[in-house]
Amino acid sequence: LEAEETRQVVVIGAGQAAAQAIQSLRQGGFQGGIALIGDEPHYPYQRPPLSKAFMKGEFDEERLYFRPAEWYQEARVDCRLNERATRIDRSQRLVIAGENIYSYGKLIIATGARPRKLPVPGADLAGVFDLRSLDDASRLRAAMKPGKKAVIIGAGYIGLEAAAVARQMNLEVTVLEMAPRVLARVAGPELAAFYEAEHKRQGVSILTNCSLATLEGKDGQVTAARLADGTRIEADLVLSGIGIIPNEELAREAGIACANGILTDRDGRTNDQHVFAAGDCAARPFVHYGRAGRLESVHNAIEQGKLVAAAILGQNRPVEDCPWFWSDQYDLKLQIAGLNTGYDQTITRGDPATRKFAVFYLKQSRIIAADAVNSPPEFLLAKKWIAAAEKVAPQRLGDTSIPIKDVVAQSAT
Ligand SMILES: Cc1cc2nc3c(=O)[nH]c(=O)nc-3n(C[C@H](O)[C@H](O)[C@H](O)COP(=O)(O)OP(=O)(O)OC[C@H]3O[C@@H](n4cnc5c(N)ncnc54)[C@H](O)[C@@H]3O)c2cc1C
Repeated sequence: LEAEETRQVVVIGAGQAAAQAIQSLRQGGFQGGIALIGDEPHYPYQRPPLSKAFMKGEFDEERLYFRPAEWYQEARVDCRLNERATRIDRSQRLVIAGENIYSYGKLIIATGARPRKLPVPGADLAGVFDLRSLDDASRLRAAMKPGKKAVIIGAGYIGLEAAAVARQMNLEVTVLEMAPRVLARVAGPELAAFYEAEHKRQGVSILTNCSLATLEGKDGQVTAARLADGTRIEADLVLSGIGIIPNEELAREAGIACANGILTDRDGRTNDQHVFAAGDCAARPFVHYGRAGRLESVHNAIEQGKLVAAAILGQNRPVEDCPWFWSDQYDLKLQIAGLNTGYDQTITRGDPATRKFAVFYLKQSRIIAADAVNSPPEFLLAKKWIAAAEKVAPQRLGDTSIPIKDVVAQSAT
């Protein structure tokens, strides 16, 4: 390592991407100092269980943490929890966090994203929740008592996962969605229809094409959601799940290029060679798709954490995998491979009524994405095919008499 690179690495944000970058740096032999500045009171933890098993009370807080506190001590990571970085001075290579000033050789910005706030009157009433952090989840869980009326705004993955848990905990659940269908931003109509029907079967009331006008309250506590058409839906608690905004302001104010995310190259490097960004806050090239963008997933945070560490260590770039994601609702394990933007055809393999099927998204006969419900082999092969830009014969893909592993092998001949 060059002298300059053995100086301190400073990481802003103590989440999934930060935890991975630090671990990869130490595993890769980085000997310099590492400072981790996180504005939450917690060591880095995983967020996915917050809308799944943790919310249901089936996953202890201890298990959320990637590493116990001692690990950071042993790895000589100076953890500055409960501390918020407020400014980056690139000319002097400093991070300012209130009264504290940290000098860096390399800086990793891993600040994640924050929930978009409901743009309606009443959004700040008691009983209205976001779901991003462990503390959010703990507050929400405490309010989720059987028999209570929950209104969930937004039918994306987090909203629907929370709806599933709330139903399983015997709350009355209504989901409000502005778009004509659930999962409108992330999934095709086939998958959306399946999930909508499943939630209704489980007793969730789903209203699509609806516009929330206001949240009504009494004595400071939310009591109802009022729609633009006047409909009033009683609520003991409201969960807002209407998307997230990347925490890119620190970078932007320091003159680092941002456009819906901190812009990076394949190694996670920004337009400043000493500054890197990783995770939900970063927008990077998607090598399998010939374009760039921002992803909100565990795989993305882990992969970028590894890429950044390798770049800082001067090691070869790790192989970039096809993007992937998952969502658990009821007994349905959904695994998503790839990015479906721009598909021109979908093929459903298997019968949704069996609760085991996959929707493949094709663009010019190439698979660009797949949503696999209770179907791990379809998910794993789709990931492989996307990475290899395989062409498929659509009729073979939809024919369950042909084993999935043989679909591409034989269609190529
Ligand atoms: C409820 C929930 C369920 C999810 N489920 C799934 C799932 O099933 N599958 C999946 O793949 N992904 C899931 N995700 C997404 C996944 O958790 C995120 O993509 C991942 O956590 C991103 O990691 P990150 O390190 O970029 O950001 P984060 O984990 O959000 O960490 C960023 C940290 O930086 C802190 N920070 C921000 N600004 C500053 C500052 N100025 N100074 C100091 N600290 C700062 C933040 O407070 C936060 O602690 C889920 C997310 C949520 C919230």
